Amino acid sequence: MHKINTSKKITILGTLALGVSGIVLLAWFFQIREILSIIPGSATMKFNTALLFQLSSIGVLLYPNSRKTTQILNVLLVFGILLIATISFATYFFSVGVNIDNLFISDIYSTEYPGRMSPATAFCFFLLGISLWGTHASSRTIRVIIQYSLLVIILISLVSIVAYALQIPGESRGFFIHSMAIHTSVLFILLTLALSLKNPTLGFANLLFGNNAGSALMRSLLPFLIGLPLLLSYILLRASTNNVLDFEFGLSLHTVTFILISIVYTSIIASKLNKDDIKRNALEDSLRISNQELSFFKDALDQSSILATTDRKGVITSVNDKFCEISKYSREELIGKTHRIINSGFHSKEFFQTLWSTISKGNIWVGEVKNKAKDGSFYWMLTSIIPFKNDNGKIYKYLSIRQDITDRKNGEERLAMQFEELKTKNIEIEQFAYIASHDLQEPLRTVINYTETLTEEYEGKLDSAADKYLSFIKDASTRMSDLIKGLLDYSRLGKLTGRTKVNCATLIQEIKADLEATINETNSTIIVGDLPIVNGFEIELRLLFQNLITNAIKFKRVGVEPEVTISAIKNDLSWEFSVKDNGIGIDDIYHEKIFIIFQRLHNRKDYAGTGIGLSHCQKIVNLHGGSIWVDSKINEGSTFNFTIPI
Ligand code: ADP
Repeated sequence: MHKINTSKKITILGTLALGVSGIVLLAWFFQIREILSIIPGSATMKFNTALLFQLSSIGVLLYPNSRKTTQILNVLLVFGILLIATISFATYFFSVGVNIDNLFISDIYSTEYPGRMSPATAFCFFLLGISLWGTHASSRTIRVIIQYSLLVIILISLVSIVAYALQIPGESRGFFIHSMAIHTSVLFILLTLALSLKNPTLGFANLLFGNNAGSALMRSLLPFLIGLPLLLSYILLRASTNNVLDFEFGLSLHTVTFILISIVYTSIIASKLNKDDIKRNALEDSLRISNQELSFFKDALDQSSILATTDRKGVITSVNDKFCEISKYSREELIGKTHRIINSGFHSKEFFQTLWSTISKGNIWVGEVKNKAKDGSFYWMLTSIIPFKNDNGKIYKYLSIRQDITDRKNGEERLAMQFEELKTKNIEIEQFAYIASHDLQEPLRTVINYTETLTEEYEGKLDSAADKYLSFIKDASTRMSDLIKGLLDYSRLGKLTGRTKVNCATLIQEIKADLEATINETNSTIIVGDLPIVNGFEIELRLLFQNLITNAIKFKRVGVEPEVTISAIKNDLSWEFSVKDNGIGIDDIYHEKIFIIFQRLHNRKDYAGTGIGLSHCQKIVNLHGGSIWVDSKINEGSTFNFTIPI
């Protein structure tokens, strides 16, 4: 259910009182008797009473703050109320010298003390005036006293209301309240409730409006305690005045009925309270169990992790033993400081800015932090920082849970360093290979040229041995040229162009066209499955497929026409390609060796080649971040597989 908040309640009550008393003031000007005394023949609400209600309502609606004007206005209102109330009250007992009763309007309706508010009304306004001032007092004692003086106003007003309810004639009510109008009594109750709500945690307001069981009991009993005796007394009075009942018998009947109904009502409330109590006990039990579980969790966390709590500003409020152990600071040295005490200076300012902006928004931050212990040694922590929020969503503390990851990080650092060294070495080797192969080409070309010239000019003119030697030189130098060219190509891989979208299906079509002569010559069949578009180096990918297809045709079994199947499947993170043949196959022991540069398993006479093709393939696949391997058995064909990350 939606609950109206306290200040709204005060505004509603104050505005109601302001409205009703305003109407009464108008009724005096326009002489509307029905509004002045709502119950025909009963006392009227006097002009001064309505006026003081106006002032009091404004006082209730006003919240004196640091602004001087509101404070002055409050003092003026209190002063006005106290002045008029005191004079009105005093006039009953002393001759005051001033008559303010008909100062603003003349009362033609009242026979006794025309225009003058009842002593009870004047007294209540006196208390109300003081309460208006004291409600905002800084002293708690004063505010508590005020709460109880408000209770006096309520009691007086209630007596008046009861008298009206029981229809006790004015002259029988006693001098004090006999001329208090019914709406005067009601407005007093409204304003008193409103004022008491300004300090809802003090005095009877706390008891009546509080959230605890006692206040709930009070709220359910109060209407009954007021209403039932009122109703029974009314019936008794009516019955005895109309001679339906003898008064004394009626009184005993009244008492018995009151006791009986009270017992029934109290039993209903008591059994409801009992049920609530049972529910509460069950809740407490489950709370105890979950508290126990929480403490187990806490213990486990304490044993396994490095823990610290800080306030909103990051000042350390608690640390566990493990924290002290690893940071080598004592608890006393840490508490009251910020985590700057263990700052290693390794992370940038932005790193901590991101951390703070994450946690101050109420989110958990997880990251790896390098810290510095008291003895100057460094340690790495996998750190989670968890913000704790109160009911209003405001962060009031942070809990950090850390795990020591120093060994892992040191290992990673070592590995990264080794990787860097390896990378540098690789680059050096590649540069060396490039320079060497590039520079070797020139003298070799000279050797080849002169060998050709020598052959052209002297072939057949020398003896047959010389011819044979010349042909050996020619073969060897051509072969050397091929090897050097292969080495040069190898060192250039990946350096010519960048990555583009490469349609592998198109690529294979083009390679097939290039190899048409070989394919026809060997009567090969090339079967191509669905191939994807990948993000890669086009020239290198072409070389990769071309090498694998050429090998698949080249290493064919005698008498078996080559059949090559190219396909691809999609894995989670990469495309897996395979080039399958029905050739001679490769023994298990060579499955890795064949990827090493210049490694060959066959004689050049049986199968031509330089032994560089597969090392090209491996370098190209690695360039794309994938891997290459072969599945093969002697005489059963080979399948070369490689992956290209998506
Ligand atoms: P090359 O083909 O110039 O000899 P490669 O590096 O391409 O050099 O191949 C290295 C060796 O691997 C080859 O000499 C051959 O023994 C073996 N090989 C490569 N592809 C196949 C294949 N499809 N079937 C059988 N053996 C192969």
